Amino acid sequence: MRLLIATRNAHKLSEIRKILAPAEVQLLSLDDVEGLPDELPEDGDTFAANALQKAREAHAKTGLLTCADDSGLEVDALGGRPGVFSKRFSPEGTDPANNRHLLHLLGERTDRAARYRCVLALVGDGVEKIVDGRCEGHIGHDERGHHGFGYDPLFCPADAPGRTMAELSPEEKNAISHRGRAFLNLLPHLRALREGSQSSTPSRSRTV
Ligand code: IMP
Repeated sequence: MRLLIATRNAHKLSEIRKILAPAEVQLLSLDDVEGLPDELPEDGDTFAANALQKAREAHAKTGLLTCADDSGLEVDALGGRPGVFSKRFSPEGTDPANNRHLLHLLGERTDRAARYRCVLALVGDGVEKIVDGRCEGHIGHDERGHHGFGYDPLFCPADAPGRTMAELSPEEKNAISHRGRAFLNLLPHLRALREGSQSSTPSRSRTV
């Protein structure tokens, strides 16, 4: 079974490849298919609306079973911002500038609870599923660590006390991350689809 992951982000794709290894599906990215714009539209005001919008668009253009994600950081003291605007939180929109902006807004506040969220939409012929994953934590006072991307040097996951997300190895991050948890929640749906497609086409090889 083939599954299009609606991203061009190589870092994200390599995280997803590791998480979905048990599903035994052939993963494609937007770079493997033709006819899609560089960036899929995502102008919804929730993670779920954006993920569904991207997955529907990519499925409509390619006919492939498609999974799209939308993820970001929610900071309680900022009323849930940056949320769906995580990527372009600062005017520059780069990771270092976004992190500086976040530190500036929080200042010396002590209420620094935050979470990463990831919502996945799986869209195929007659299929629409939404799953999500969360990683609770708080925002530190300075950047630490060199792994990961985005807000990882500032985000201190509750499941890894004393370390930022950027101080975890990729394997450690996948085990607790919002994306890791969302894709784990996707696995049963992928298995069910794979078993369904195999039982409805008995003459085809069972190897995927
Ligand atoms: P996307 O929807 O997955 O592209 O994520 C949007 C933005 O959320 C990214 O550009 C990052 O700023 C932030 N983000 C999402 N996931 C992570 C993560 O695992 N670590 C750090 N930042 C993340």
